[in-house]
Amino acid sequence: MTSLLLADVRPWGGDAVDVTIVDGVISDLSPAGSSTGSSTESSTESSAETDQRIDGHGLLALPGFVNAHAHVDKSWWGQPWVSYGGEPTTQGRIAHERAERDKYGIPSVGGAKAVLREFLRHGTTATRTHVDVDLGVELRGIANVREAAAALDGAVEVEIVAFPQDGVLRRPGVLDLLDKAAAEGATSIGGLDPATIDRDPVGQLDALFEIAVRRGVGIDVHLHDHGDLGGFQYELIAERTVQAGLQGKVNVSHGFALGELAPARRSEMVDQLGAAGISWTTVAPATSAPLPFREMRAAGVPIGLGTDGIRDLWSPYGDGDLLQIARGFARLHGLRTDEDLTYAVELATTYGASFVHRENHGLTVGARADIVLLDAENAPDVLVRAPRREYVIAGGQVVVRDGELQV
Ligand SMILES: [Zn+2]
Repeated sequence: MTSLLLADVRPWGGDAVDVTIVDGVISDLSPAGSSTGSSTESSTESSAETDQRIDGHGLLALPGFVNAHAHVDKSWWGQPWVSYGGEPTTQGRIAHERAERDKYGIPSVGGAKAVLREFLRHGTTATRTHVDVDLGVELRGIANVREAAAALDGAVEVEIVAFPQDGVLRRPGVLDLLDKAAAEGATSIGGLDPATIDRDPVGQLDALFEIAVRRGVGIDVHLHDHGDLGGFQYELIAERTVQAGLQGKVNVSHGFALGELAPARRSEMVDQLGAAGISWTTVAPATSAPLPFREMRAAGVPIGLGTDGIRDLWSPYGDGDLLQIARGFARLHGLRTDEDLTYAVELATTYGASFVHRENHGLTVGARADIVLLDAENAPDVLVRAPRREYVIAGGQVVVRDGELQV
């Protein structure tokens, strides 16, 4: 048995508590100073158990962040700066990445591990990552990501979407790779702009849904297409989700069109998404149209935040800090009140749980001990300053101590 006592921390900025963690799970929360069940010595080890104590000194505690949309396989993080190249269109970036990635050793175990370490540094302890599956790398990227996650002892829980970045129908053989990835444990298969990449939205979506139903996996579609073309594909996805009985297993990533539709159609679309149990992930780019997030919330459409790729051949931006994304979401929507600012932090933490299939994610007894300690007054203060993560506990393991990464 391994136990860890986090003494004197303030969940969400509330009253101070002591948190007891046993075998990687939160086993008790009690008012600060009242815990008696654990050693009060620091890092005392015996042959039978390891008791550790961390004095929080009133630091604010949050549940670990959940990055609901990442690409941990394709970053050049840790390498010398790579100047951005390629045409600034989706197709231009796809072509550029395929032409250049070998030069930077993409994908690799080391590259994926570097990204996951940055996630941990910033308090992310679970992620849904899209991993490129194409005729060049086949399923090698997925194997790399799994190996990287294992090398970190599972500190970051990684859920994999087999992602056809180079297209589906236009690249014969990719459907077989997606099918194989699903058979081998990918939680979802991805899609990509069915209309503009494959130029056959019905064909791509029907093929994806056929695999998903047969293999019992989810679908997570990158939908960059704007306006009516994007709206049309939302409808195709919602119809198929209901027909296939995949409610609760389908996600739209980016989905810029939703914020661009005329109000009446947008409201219908939100209701349709809610009825079909479709979730939605965003990186909240400053250039996108604001979302009808209050309507989505009312309609029961789960919203997840993600960093997308960081420092890759698509974009030089991003450092893996989900709080920066939550702040971007707040600014994009003009959030001001404490309640709304707290909601933005919740999107990065507790509300992300469903995207990685966690039943219990929070500062509660029985949850995996994923805890972030920050020097902040309350959740709104966390959001606007995104202060250093003083401590990060991942599955009971101390992965950041005094702001320094330990793994
Ligand atoms: Zn993406």
